Amino acid sequence: ASQVEIRKVNKFYGPFQALKNVDLTIPPGKVTCLIGPSGSGKSTLLRCINFLEEYDAGEVRIDGQLIGYDAPGRKMSGRKLREMRRSIGMVFQQFNLWPHMTALENVAEGLIRVRGLSKRDAQARAEDALRKVGLGDKMANHPSRLSGGQQQRVAIARAIAMEPRLMLFDEPTSALDPELVGEVLTVMKTLAAEGMTMVVVTHEMGFAAHVADQVAFMDAGELIAAGDPASILHQP
Ligand code: ADP
Ligand code: ADP
Repeated sequence: ASQVEIRKVNKFYGPFQALKNVDLTIPPGKVTCLIGPSGSGKSTLLRCINFLEEYDAGEVRIDGQLIGYDAPGRKMSGRKLREMRRSIGMVFQQFNLWPHMTALENVAEGLIRVRGLSKRDAQARAEDALRKVGLGDKMANHPSRLSGGQQQRVAIARAIAMEPRLMLFDEPTSALDPELVGEVLTVMKTLAAEGMTMVVVTHEMGFAAHVADQVAFMDAGELIAAGDPASILHQP
């Protein structure tokens, strides 16, 4: 499981500063939840971790290795960035599944294309991942024949099949009907219990309170406080 160190990270969109000197350590094998008002920079910070957003100053290190830059101001090659991203899984609010492929094909495709597995090995690994998220009986379904919660579980299976050392979740339950949120959070709890390093942008305060090891509260681009859930959430 990976450790992430975020040091004095700044991010500008034109003149607008979306991240202001953010410092945060994401400990290995633990769950860190990023919470705070809409527009406070949570998603931007999450995306700086895999360099989907280019931060402008500061450092993001994964297991000690700087991501995005070889040295301050000098961008790393696309090839090196892709190599680093191989150990990072990401799950978005939108599930981004291929509509013309079954659940199994959606999970196997990346293993074939990105990892170079044979079709047979990829399918075997995809089956394991789908069983793990409770979809052993839906592998032949296309996304249109899955509920939103099931589609998001396929997206999680697709990420974990790549055997990441770090998983990033950007509001993974926000697009779901309320009755489908629980099944996705349950799968995430299972991953957490296995010691996966997870960073989760969420409005699910119950999940933050009960599953997170660390909660980081952001407001207006600043990281206001980080600590164990009880100290940050002040639950009565
Ligand atoms: P959160 O995830 O906390 O809702 P975001 O990280 O999505 O916040 O956005 C932080 C701020 O940066 C918001 O004010 C948003 O409008 C702005 N922002 C995000 N992406 C862009 C972009 N591509 N260009 C300009 N402004 C952006
Ligand atoms: P969310 O609330 O789910 O983070 P948003 O609607 O804030 O999504 O953003 C959707 C997309 O638009 C993102 O790619 C984000 O980077 C971009 N975006 C957000 N705010 C701005 C902005 N003020 N100007 C330009 N792009 C933006």
